[in-house]
Amino acid sequence: MNTVYSIEDIRDYVQTVKAAGKTVALVPTMGNLHDGHLTLVTKAKELADVVIVSIYVNQMQFGPNEDYQSYPRTMAQDEALLEEHNVDMVFAPTSHIIYPEGLDNHTEIKVEALDGMHCGKSRPNFFTGIATVVTKLFNIVQPDLAVFGEKDFQQLCIIRKMVKDLCLPVEIVGAPIARSETGLALSSRNGYLSEEELEQACLLSQELKKAKAAIEEGNANYDILQRDAIAHLAESGFQPDYFNIIRRSDLHTAGPNDKELIILAAAALGKARLIDNIQIDL
Ligand code: AMP
Repeated sequence: MNTVYSIEDIRDYVQTVKAAGKTVALVPTMGNLHDGHLTLVTKAKELADVVIVSIYVNQMQFGPNEDYQSYPRTMAQDEALLEEHNVDMVFAPTSHIIYPEGLDNHTEIKVEALDGMHCGKSRPNFFTGIATVVTKLFNIVQPDLAVFGEKDFQQLCIIRKMVKDLCLPVEIVGAPIARSETGLALSSRNGYLSEEELEQACLLSQELKKAKAAIEEGNANYDILQRDAIAHLAESGFQPDYFNIIRRSDLHTAGPNDKELIILAAAALGKARLIDNIQIDL
C-alpha cells in the first residue's frame, strides 16, 4: 500500500487500474480511523477490485468555534491499520490541493433541500463543506463507487441527492453503524470523552432504542417521545441538540401514515458532540 498526495499521482494510479479492467471504490474519511471506518473498507472490498481511502480533515465543514485545530490527526497509525486491512492506496491531499484559491474564494456545492434541518440547523456550513469536498474527491479520484456510513445518515442522504442531481457517475453505498460493546456509535470524537463520560455516552443509543420500542408498540405521540428523550438526556448530563423522529425518504417530520422512519439524534457530552440514529420499519 502507498500513500499519494497529489491529484496527478492518484489519477495516474486510478487510470492504470481501470485500464487493467478493475473497479475502484473510494472511502472518504478524516482519519483517526476506528472500526467504523474499517466496516466501510470491508464493504468497499466486497464490491470493488481496488479500494482507495482518502484521509483529509476538511476545514470547510468545521464552524469557527469547532474542533478543526484539535481534531485528532494520526496518519502513521491510520496507514498501518489500512495496510493491515489490505487497502490498496491512501490519498492524503493537503488543503492547498483541495482549495487552491483558498477557503474564502472557491465554488461551493449546497444541497439546499436537505440542509438547514437536524445537524444543518446548528452547524450552518457543515453540509456545504461536506458536499463540496466530496464532489472534489469524486472528481479527483473518479471512483466507480464510494462507501459512506449510516451513522452520518443526513450526510449520506445529502450525498445521494447530490450525486443524483448533479448526474455524478458514482454509485453511493451505505454501511451500517459500528458500535462499541456498550452500544455507543464509534466516532473519532469519542476520544474527547473522559472515562466517566464514555460510560454515560451509551445513554444516547439507549434513548434511541427506547423510543423505537415505544413507536413499534404503537405510540405515535412523536412530539412527546422527542421531548421526553431530550429531557432525559439533559438530566443525564448531555446538552441535547435534537432528537427528531422523521421520515427516512426526505428527513421531514414523520406523520401517522409514514412507515419508514428514522430517529436522528445529536447531543454534546463534555467536549464531544455525539450523533446517532436508529431506523424503524412499521
Ligand atoms: P469521518 O472520518 O468521521 O468523517 O467518517 C468517515 C466515514 O466513516 C463517514 O462515511 C462516516 O459515516 C463513517 N463512519 C464514522 N463512524 C462510523 C461508525 N461508527 N459506523 C459506520 N460508519 C462510520
